[in-house]
Order: sequence, then C-alpha cells, then structure tokens
Amino acid sequence: MHGMMMDRPLKIIDILKFAEEVHPTQEIISRTLQNSIHTTNYGEIGQRARRMSKALVSMGIKLGDRVATLAWNGYRHFELYFAISGLGAVCHTINPRLSSEQLTYVVNHAEDKIIFLDLTFIPIVEAHLEKFPSTTKYVLMTDKENMPECNIPNVICYEDLIDRADSDYDWPEFPEDTASSLCYTSGTTGNPKGVLYSHRSTVLHALLACVTLSGSFAVGRKILPIVPLFHANAWGIPYSAPLTGTSLVFPGANLDGASVYDLLNQNKVFSAWGVPTVWMGLLDEIKNRGAKPEGLGEMIVGGSAAAKSLIEAFENMDVTVIHAWGMTETSPLGTTGKLTPPYTELPREQQINLKGKQGRKVFMVDLKITDDEGKILPHDGKSVGNLFCRGNTIAGGYFNNEEASKAVIDKDGWFGTGDVATIDEEGFLVLTDRAKDLIKSGGEWISSIDLENMVMAHPDVENCAVIAIPHEKWDERPLLVVVPAEGKKPSKEELIEHLSGHFAKWQMPDDVVYEDTLPLTATGKVSKLTLRQKYEKHILAS
Ligand code: ADP
Repeated sequence: MHGMMMDRPLKIIDILKFAEEVHPTQEIISRTLQNSIHTTNYGEIGQRARRMSKALVSMGIKLGDRVATLAWNGYRHFELYFAISGLGAVCHTINPRLSSEQLTYVVNHAEDKIIFLDLTFIPIVEAHLEKFPSTTKYVLMTDKENMPECNIPNVICYEDLIDRADSDYDWPEFPEDTASSLCYTSGTTGNPKGVLYSHRSTVLHALLACVTLSGSFAVGRKILPIVPLFHANAWGIPYSAPLTGTSLVFPGANLDGASVYDLLNQNKVFSAWGVPTVWMGLLDEIKNRGAKPEGLGEMIVGGSAAAKSLIEAFENMDVTVIHAWGMTETSPLGTTGKLTPPYTELPREQQINLKGKQGRKVFMVDLKITDDEGKILPHDGKSVGNLFCRGNTIAGGYFNNEEASKAVIDKDGWFGTGDVATIDEEGFLVLTDRAKDLIKSGGEWISSIDLENMVMAHPDVENCAVIAIPHEKWDERPLLVVVPAEGKKPSKEELIEHLSGHFAKWQMPDDVVYEDTLPLTATGKVSKLTLRQKYEKHILAS
C-alpha cells in the first residue's frame, strides 16, 4: 500500500528560495580580490541568482549543460551555485590547482559550455585557450570598473550579464534525480574522476549536515568555509547555511594564517571549516598574536587526519574541534566526531583521544569494513579492513567513466573508499591510511597516520609525513619526513625516543629526513606521492 503524501521533487533552488523569503537580511560577507569587504544578504542573492539564470538561458544554456566555475570563495561563486543548478544545468566547480594536463582533461571531459572565472585565473585560461573546446565561452567574475585587458576572446563581464537580465524568471520544474553539480577528484594517479551530484543527493546532504552539525548552523551565527567551493561543494556549507539562515563569510583568495585570522576576528565568526594544514597556519598566527579570533567557538577539520596535538591546542582555547571524514564521492560528510553525552562526561584526555578519531557515521550513510576477499569484518576497534559506504549521498559511479565506475562499486552495491580503517563497537571510525599510503613491511601493515600523530606531538616538529620507501628485505619501510619548528632541529635519536613506548620496534621509522615545507596536493593535503618519488632511492641508515 502506498502512502498518500505529496511527492514534490527535492530541488537545490528551493533552499535559496526559502532563505530569500525567510532569512532575507542574513548577511553574506566576502573578501574581494581587491581586498575590500563586500556585504550582501540572502534576499539580494536570490534576486541576483534569478537574473543570472535568466542570462544563462539567454546564452543558450539548457537542462543538463555543464557550466564551469574557476573561482575562489566569494558571493558571485555562491550565487552561481544556485543560478546554474536552479535552471537544471550542471555546476562544474574546477579546482584551479590541478595540473595543466588535468585541467585540459576535465574541461574537455565535462564539455563545459561556459567557464566563469575570477581575475586571478585569467593567465590559466589564456594558457589553455587552444586546449579547451573552441566553443567554450568565458565570463570574468567582476564588474565593469575592474575589467582588465586580456587575451581571452569575446570575454564577458559578469555584472553586465546581471545588469542586462531582469529578475522576472521562474526556475523550471524537473525530477529530483536531475544532475546538479560536478566535481572531479584531484586524481593523484590517472585522470581525475567526475562525481555527478543530483538535486536529491544535495538537498538530503544539506539536511543531514544541519542535523549532524546542529551547532554550526543557526540564524545569528556566522560560518566561514575555508574549504574551497571547488572542493566537494565546500563540504556542503553553501547549501546548509541558507537552509538555516546562517550568515556566510567568504575568504576570497587569501588563505594564509594572518588573513584567515583577521577575517574570523573582524566578523566574529563562530564556526570555520578546513583541512589541517590551514589550521596549522592559523595556530601559528594565534600564537603570534596571543589570543584566538574573537567569537571563534568551533572548527570542523577533515580532508586528512587531524593530529591530536592540533586538536588539543584549539580545545585549550575553548574552540570545539570536530573531526570529520569524507570524500568528494560522499558529498562529502561520511562521519563526524561531534561528542555527545555520555562522551562529554569523560575526562578531558579521553575526550581528546576520541576527537582524534574520525567520528561516527552521519544519518543515511552505512559503513562496512572488509578483508581483501570482501568478507565483512567486525566493528571491534581492532580489525583493520577496506572501508566501504552506501547511502543516498554516496556516488554510485563516475561521470562518463564506465571503467572507473565498475572498479569502485562492489557486488553488493557498496562504494569502495580506498581507505583502510577500523570501526569500534560504539561506531567510531579510525582511519589507518589511504590504501595506497599504507606501509607494508614484512607482510605487516604500518599506519602512517598513527606515527604522524605521535611525531606531531613533539614540540620541535612543525609538520611531518611518514612514507613507504622500497626495501629489499622487508618490501617497504617507513621514512619520517619532518618540517622542524622555527629555529629547531630535533635529531633522529630524539624523535625515535619520542616514539618508543608507543610503537613496536618494527613499526619505527628507519630514518628521518628534513624539509622546509611539505608538498601539497590540489586539495591542500600532504602529497605523499611527491615525497615517495623524491625519496624512492633514499638509502636507509639501518
Ligand atoms: P582528494 O582525493 O581529491 O584529495 P577528497 O576530499 O575526495 O579529495 O579526499 C578524500 C580522502 O581524504 C579520503 O578518502 C581519506 O583518505 C582522506 N580523508 C578525508 N578526511 C579524513 C580524515 N578526517 N582523516 C584522515 N583522512 C581523511
């Protein structure tokens, strides 16, 4: 027997329409490329998104067409999220940090009809004009006064498009499984793979994020996505914020510690979201200035493992740290580590230990770990296995890539994350490694994340990575790459001493090398691939 309730399609644009009507005066604050502060609100964004949709339709954009962005976090990028998806086209957020080859691949693979770009990225587009489709049109995300001379043919000014269109436009109806946005994974090996979200998956993710991270979203609170709009939809903030009337603060191009500090401080931002490297930069800045940014109450950290020392440093300043795990393919929230009773009653040290884990699953996401034959392993906190997930917000394959799609879904329809993990009886996930970063020594696995966590607790260490390097006898052995804190250089003996007692002898790094900085991937994570290539031939001391 069927239920007798109405069946209305879940659509992204309804989030903005809701914010426009119910929370019109809540602010959206952006740092512009000219380094000024621009303030608007949901009411105005609603009107501008309508005009931009109308302009896109007049440029020939139809349901299913891909329209790309190459832009920082700012109000224009935010309104494009809605203007493009609202009319039924697909918003392809391009990561400007991709290599030239990968950029060429994604723009051609997506067959982008239009690319909207921030002024910063003019040189990138100019260098690729011959490689991108000849029919692609380009729009500079600026106003008339700031339109520069450039070599992009027939380039259009964003504000001209808005000015020329009026807001007499009704967003169309279409089924909720219509594609809404496209985000390619950074593809450390091989070509990037496109994750094609739907209106349904995006609205459900927006709802589950608000429910899971209920402290982050509220009228009167400000949230700052340091995570870029081109990386997994800025972890869903652009949808969950308007849904709840939370005010948004966009950082623009400057993501260094000092710039992030100032923006947080000036706007009394409550919640900020980003990868660990960004938080390390902010922590240094806080140490320099002697106080945390006013109003900062919460940070969400994910994308790679947050070291316990980092978590503790922020918790000591009364900033609640929530460690989250996810992927572009999981929309991205998969687990979050927000502690609830009875865990909040535990002694502080135990709470910090729990926060170091990757958290528990969010509503609608199922997790399983398996051995290499696909046998399900128990959630006992000890069994280490391949992590799979399933749910309405999880990718069921990749855009126009049958081979990669087949490879990633198991026979029971679960998505293989490529991560290796344990899950305990209470559901806490602990990531051991990405499968490709695991260190296989003499038939045993060594977790680089565990080692890194402990090394980061050494006061003379600024940052570190543990990588596998080939070894004749043991297959692979761990090498510790350390970025020392300013003016320090902890010796190999000191570091090994620091680790002993926490790890078995065979798990200890065989050698230590020093770097000034660590190479980063396009998504701001330590690029272990680059380090492995650099140290491939490193002769181990032992
Ligand atoms: P990319 O692969 O392009 O860097 P993703 O955001 O899709 O971008 O990367 C997802 C991967 O990041 C996960 O599969 C996992 O390996 C890693 N990751 C995400 N969050 C965490 C976390 N909290 N701890 C450890 N690793 C994480």
